[in-house]
Amino acid sequence: MAKLLEGKPIADKIKEEIRQQVAAMAMKPVLASILVGENAGAASYVRSQAKAAESLGIEYQLHKLGEDSTEAHLVDFIKKLDSNKSVAGIIVQMPLPKQIDYKKISQCILPEKDIEGMHPANIGKILFGKAKLLPCTAASAMALINSTGVDLYGKEAVIVGHSEIVGKPLSLLLLDKFATVTVCHIGTSEAGKLEEHVKKAEVLVVAVGKAGLIKGELVKEGAIVVDVGINRVGDKIVGDVEFEAAEKRASYITPVPGGVGPLTVTMLMRNLVEAAKLQLA
Ligand code: NAD
Repeated sequence: MAKLLEGKPIADKIKEEIRQQVAAMAMKPVLASILVGENAGAASYVRSQAKAAESLGIEYQLHKLGEDSTEAHLVDFIKKLDSNKSVAGIIVQMPLPKQIDYKKISQCILPEKDIEGMHPANIGKILFGKAKLLPCTAASAMALINSTGVDLYGKEAVIVGHSEIVGKPLSLLLLDKFATVTVCHIGTSEAGKLEEHVKKAEVLVVAVGKAGLIKGELVKEGAIVVDVGINRVGDKIVGDVEFEAAEKRASYITPVPGGVGPLTVTMLMRNLVEAAKLQLA
């Protein structure tokens, strides 16, 4: 039976480090959060971010812009925050209204204030193993894997899902540890090859958003399984991996909820503190 890889104990440890670093700062660091329009999901992220920030001594400033805001208006707004020395980090909440292109927006945030780690300059630094601001979900998955203490050198790591926020950056983080990395996606499934890759995974990370996509019987004996997926099934939240069957085979497995989720907001706060330090440097 697998050991549970829970996010909360790791998050608590990181939070303690953040508290100490914030306490040592001359001024409370400010996190500027921009919410464009009304969205229930985004509003709930904002609440949990504000709560986490407050508990860590970080000032959370919420800026609400109208649903009909233009891309140019949002760009101007971000540029003002970029040049505001009292702001340490900026996050633009997703989803954005359809008239605004997220890719353009993420490039307007100064790289040293980009606490989501999605500016091309920050993504580029991952390639060289020099990133200070990592995409939060990829960093969370990596922290869970590292918490097992298992040496990744030469291990078969398989990531299912190749999004810019999870699969792609995580593949570079795992390569940096000398794992042998395979990244699967919809093309892999449609070619009928997903099973063969999943079966060989000694480290398996799944970030797709399809309940039950990974059958428990495919999980290799002794594998580390990190399930990033979040799916609502009836009144329950489940991941992408069939948990009950997978936990009988894996050596470590994340619960959903309770695995990656509790860590991501903590990683955002850690990035905020890193961003504040980068601006002092
Ligand atoms: P995305 O939609 O950007 O990417 C989905 C990926 O899954 C793509 O690479 C796609 O090719 C692949 N895919 C789709 N169908 C597939 C199939 N049948 N077989 C193999 N691959 C397939 O998704 P995302 O933003 O990376 O999010 C993925 C999941 O992770 C979602 O459930 C999301 O809610 C969850 N998520 C959780 C957290 C967290 O904090 N726990 C954070 C971010 C995302």
